[in-house]
Amino acid sequence: MAESAKVKINTTFIALNGSKETRSKMEDFRTVCARVFARLKALGEASADSFLIPGVNAYNQGDYEAALSHFLRSLAQVPAFEDEIRPHIRICERVGRTVPSSDDNKYRAAVSKWDRLPFFVKWFRKSPQLRLRCKYCGHFTMYIDPNEGFAYMDGNNCQLCGRGYLMSDFAWDGIDGQAYIYYRNSVREEEFYREFENQFEVEVDHKIFLSASSKQPQGD
Ligand SMILES: [Zn+2]
Repeated sequence: MAESAKVKINTTFIALNGSKETRSKMEDFRTVCARVFARLKALGEASADSFLIPGVNAYNQGDYEAALSHFLRSLAQVPAFEDEIRPHIRICERVGRTVPSSDDNKYRAAVSKWDRLPFFVKWFRKSPQLRLRCKYCGHFTMYIDPNEGFAYMDGNNCQLCGRGYLMSDFAWDGIDGQAYIYYRNSVREEEFYREFENQFEVEVDHKIFLSASSKQPQGD
């Protein structure tokens, strides 16, 4: 994908009813998912349905390779999707570049052995625990619901790299979801803030926003 101009991020966003709202507040949290899908629908509803949604489903299931191929196909149909799905493409490419560890290979082998078992044998055996690849380090790790627990308090962190909100989630990994985490100061690791500022043109730094709103981080 060619380098394009960075999307500008400010401390406000336009709500679905057209009003201007402040990032990191309840209205932001409540509508992150609805806003990204409303914008994609406005850009090209038919193409979003046929090309992008299968990618969203694959992405949310941690199938980064399938998601990437759907995302690239949807971009070929509607180039205007690019700003919205660039963060997801970047994550898919990062996981795709990860060299599998011996634990990753052991997990894949256990799942494929389980898949080949006859159904009547599966009745009497325990299936392997669900693991998906962390969107940051790219290795298989215990599945944690993206909406559960607070990463700020170690409640939603990768067992391997420690980063917060590790599972792929189309809404939270999009522009608004990432901006919410940035201005909410929801994760502890500096890399998140650095990576956010590399991807987006940030008009107000998250630390300035935090001290101006004189609120403590609340961890979600
Ligand atoms: Zn990780």
